Amino acid sequence: MYSSDFLSHQYSQNPCVLNQLVDNHGRKITYLRLAITDRCNLRCHYCMPEGGVTLIPHADTLSYEEMERLVVLFQDFGVTKVRITGGEPFARVGCFEFLQNLKNKVGVDQLHITTNGVETAKYLIRLKQAGISGINLSLDTMDRKRFKEITRRDRLDRVLATMYGALELNIPLKINSVVTAETSDRDIIALADLAKLHPINLRFIELMPFSGRSKVATSCNHTLIHRLECLFPDLQERRADTVSTARQFGRPGFLGSIGIIEGSSRTFCATCNKLRITPQGMMKACLYDDGVLDLRKLLRSGVSDNKIALKICQCLNHRYADGHETEMANVQQNEPSMATIGG
Ligand code: SAM
Ligand code: SF4
Repeated sequence: MYSSDFLSHQYSQNPCVLNQLVDNHGRKITYLRLAITDRCNLRCHYCMPEGGVTLIPHADTLSYEEMERLVVLFQDFGVTKVRITGGEPFARVGCFEFLQNLKNKVGVDQLHITTNGVETAKYLIRLKQAGISGINLSLDTMDRKRFKEITRRDRLDRVLATMYGALELNIPLKINSVVTAETSDRDIIALADLAKLHPINLRFIELMPFSGRSKVATSCNHTLIHRLECLFPDLQERRADTVSTARQFGRPGFLGSIGIIEGSSRTFCATCNKLRITPQGMMKACLYDDGVLDLRKLLRSGVSDNKIALKICQCLNHRYADGHETEMANVQQNEPSMATIGG
């Protein structure tokens, strides 16, 4: 594996030499999270204000063609996994066709989607046919009243239709559940029951206080893991066999697994293999940075793919070691919502 310094130099001499993106800490980039919209049909209280976020004008959002070009480019440089997220991806017209293109035309190896499931059920058969690698479904409770309180919308039935539909089609399914102070033990136990009965990878997510600049984020991890250990004393931690943001636990008799994503504690930075692109085309080398490269500007300036690749490579040469370091260096800006980043 080459250092990005070396690759950067080699690349400026001969672009074909660069076929891997490696940061200044030796972390290879293989995973791209692409947020295709900031629009959403829910208003989860931990993510968005009731009135929604100030919407990005359509003209300032990357077009599908621009995103496709970027995916091709990242793929050429070793990215094998792409996750489409939002906002709510299916809130953008043409989302399914874009996914289909990424799989069938661009040939993305592992294509995933993160969705709230409200509009997803009707696409499931076609997603399966297109070869989707997995769905991450956000679901914080199995109780209709609680769901309405959390999301400010009465849509639990639709989300469950997506969940059971995906299970029926054997689409690999992860469920993301944000745990807040209001999350009851009943919520947690009912969600865990899903992983008992079905091959679901259930992940409890540490709440990230918005805007992610977590001056107040301290011992959530401690609280969350201990809460789970209290509720389920027989949790058995599994050794991570892949680069993962979740710690995984099994339980006797469970078809699925339980995990926790310690976003606030940032325990997974040492192996971080991902880059994010926001709906406006800002590349983020870390969830906590303010954006390190304006890809939209580059794309619209008419420069070649080689030039864009070189810029990406140069950014990776200055990547912070972890989220804490990034946060210290990026103090001035507030992201209004996770929906503008993609989670
Ligand atoms: N709308 C889609 C969904 O909800 O799955 C995709 C975008 S959403 C921003 C991606 C993920 O971010 C979801 O799993 C959501 O639960 C999580 N998320 C949003 N706000 C969060 C917060 N403040 N702390 C932790 N996770 C958050
Ligand atoms: Fe929408 Fe997802 Fe944010 Fe909920 S978490 S408001 S579903 S973008």
